[in-house]
Amino acid sequence: RPPAHWLFGDQLGPRFLAPGDGGPHRDAPVVMVESKAVFRRRRFHRAKAHLVLSAMRHRAAELGDRVRYVRAETYREGLRAAVGQGPLTVRHPTSRAALGLVRSLEGARVLPPAGFLVPREEFTAWADGQGGGPLRQEAFYRWVRRRHELLMEGDGPAGGRWNRDHDNRQPPPRGAAELGAPPPYRPRESAVDEEVRRDLDRWERDGEVSFVGRDGPRLFPATRREALAALHRFVEHRLAGFGPHEDAMLHGDPVMSHSLLSSSLNLGLLDPAECVEAAEAAWRAGRAPLNSVEGFVRQIAGWREYVWQLYWYFGEDYRASNALGARGALPRWWEELDADAVTARCLSRVLAQVRDTGWTHHIPRLMVLGSHALQRGWDPGAVTGWFHRCFVDGYDWVMLPNVTGMSQYADGGRMTTKPYTSGGAYIDRMSDLCGPCAYRPDRRVGEDACPFTAGYWAFVHRHRDRLERNPRTAQAARGLGRLKDLPELLRQEQGRDAGAAP
Ligand code: FAD
Repeated sequence: RPPAHWLFGDQLGPRFLAPGDGGPHRDAPVVMVESKAVFRRRRFHRAKAHLVLSAMRHRAAELGDRVRYVRAETYREGLRAAVGQGPLTVRHPTSRAALGLVRSLEGARVLPPAGFLVPREEFTAWADGQGGGPLRQEAFYRWVRRRHELLMEGDGPAGGRWNRDHDNRQPPPRGAAELGAPPPYRPRESAVDEEVRRDLDRWERDGEVSFVGRDGPRLFPATRREALAALHRFVEHRLAGFGPHEDAMLHGDPVMSHSLLSSSLNLGLLDPAECVEAAEAAWRAGRAPLNSVEGFVRQIAGWREYVWQLYWYFGEDYRASNALGARGALPRWWEELDADAVTARCLSRVLAQVRDTGWTHHIPRLMVLGSHALQRGWDPGAVTGWFHRCFVDGYDWVMLPNVTGMSQYADGGRMTTKPYTSGGAYIDRMSDLCGPCAYRPDRRVGEDACPFTAGYWAFVHRHRDRLERNPRTAQAARGLGRLKDLPELLRQEQGRDAGAAP
């Protein structure tokens, strides 16, 4: 009899059980462990807990007699109940903590990871071959395009250019309240969801576990079937409009043309290769323009893959990075997702999206939430933990480079060439959020000073020396010299109540 195979809750697609590519034995009994300690240790968004449990239980129902589904306090206890000390196989997990755990289990054999395009060793060889300079996503992305023959024409990129960001960074259409994209796929809940909701209610009632956020009808796929329907709907109806406004934000249309596929990819329900191949096929068939398809392929074959690889490549110490010495605590209104306590319209709107859905697209994450945390000097580890707990697609591997690196610049530039933050003018240009706001994006001081504009200059001032040395930020640092009201601005920012919502 082959050894049992342990399936983690983010390894739910068929690829993870396929016997090829060093996968588990085709007749291996499957073990799944639902650990309550995971939810006790951290205060997750309830919609995220719901999604993960629903997806695991749906998968167990599909696997039927082949699976032993154990509910336990910890993974170790669950495994002991399911297989005792017996031998075990398990696919390479997605976090260092889980990898450490499976390596410590006697008789466990770790099989190669699935769910990504590039084997880890190949990335290491690529990164080590970059001449010791900083790694750059653009170079990695082009290498992946070549290697996987994605959007290629002969040796060169389709259409003659690798990068179509220029066509894809437009503000929202002027005066439009919505982008007008066909609506995204939304799943229908099943009896499994009802059971999950009952369990979560009971855990909360009994004071065992506490959550943040709202757990309305489930918005994201929990099964392979639902995830394929979501991919199909995106590629056939929404991909064509993905590119041009992918960085824009609209108050009344938080999803715009984004795919909403991140949670399905990160649960393992979709494979990145099938997503980029479907997008390329739509372009080749003339159903979507190249700028949109390239933009989408870049997100998955470029960014997602790069982030996964960096998580392992940068090593465990990366977690403790704090190059800017940021030590502030997260205020209560932020922890509680109390959007109603916030006056700044952009921040209030985005925080409400997180509270209600556990999702926003990348610009609200980077240029509203992340940028605010960076400007306020909050501890990057705490900010990373918050994103991890509050987003439906958040996992250790994806949050660490994205938040600690890209959004909080805590790694001092190993992941990006400069800190991502801006004044209110950027938010005003890229959204319709500022119009009726009580603050004015062009005001730095006074009652109606925009917290992003004032916060931006206070940040630049605080890190002036570092920013002056970086060619990409030197001009911003020099701009400080032109601010006649700088002393007043600094007094205003220093006098801010650290716990009060802007
Ligand atoms: P789309 O805009 O439709 O993009 C398509 C796909 O590309 C996504 O589904 C996702 O799988 C992938 N992708 C794009 N950018 C990234 C990236 N930087 N890292 C990983 N995958 C990427 N993404 C997560 O999946 N989980 C996270 O926890 C997460 N945290 C983030 C935190 C910050 C501060 C920032 C700036 C970005 C983060 N992202 C994260 C990346 C990105 O914001 C989300 O993947 C995206 O918004 C999900 O929505 P979507 O599926 O509609 O994406």
